[in-house]
Amino acid sequence: MKTAVSSCGSIVAASQVAPTRAICPKCGGVVILRVRRLMANSGNSYYWKHVDDNHPCERQKPFMRFRYG
Ligand SMILES: [Zn+2]
Repeated sequence: MKTAVSSCGSIVAASQVAPTRAICPKCGGVVILRVRRLMANSGNSYYWKHVDDNHPCERQKPFMRFRYG
C-alpha cells in the first residue's frame, strides 16, 4: 500500500523520508516500509508491507479478488 498511519495517528505516504514502521489504516496491523528498485532512470518505489504476509486486507487488491472471493 502507498499510505499508512504513523504512530502519532497521521496519514503518512510511503517515501524516502517516511518512518520505517507504521500502522495499516484498514486493519490496524503493523506495516514496514519497503523499497523496490526500479529501472535506472525511475529511482526507487516505496511502499508499505505487512509484517505478516497473510493479512486479510492484503488480499483485497483488485487483481487478486477473484482468488479469494
Ligand atoms: Zn492491514
